[in-house]
Amino acid sequence: MTGKTAWPADVLFRFLTIGGATVDIAPQPTIALPERHAAICRGCDASYPDANGASHHVKSWAQTHSETCRALPRPTA
Ligand SMILES: [Zn+2]
Repeated sequence: MTGKTAWPADVLFRFLTIGGATVDIAPQPTIALPERHAAICRGCDASYPDANGASHHVKSWAQTHSETCRALPRPTA
């Protein structure tokens, strides 16, 4: 049975890590340009900011990180 996890409204891409956490790609409110995003691992809190607006770098980081990160997602209160 696969549970449907609600996505935060601003998450554009989500990668499932081998540890069962997710790496989310979402816009960064602190960055003015709308195409600037960051990937954030919900398991280990690693993040990859998309400083140059090159979203494919963020996606490939998220993909690579999700294949290697074994951190478990933090229980939500
Ligand atoms: Zn991670």
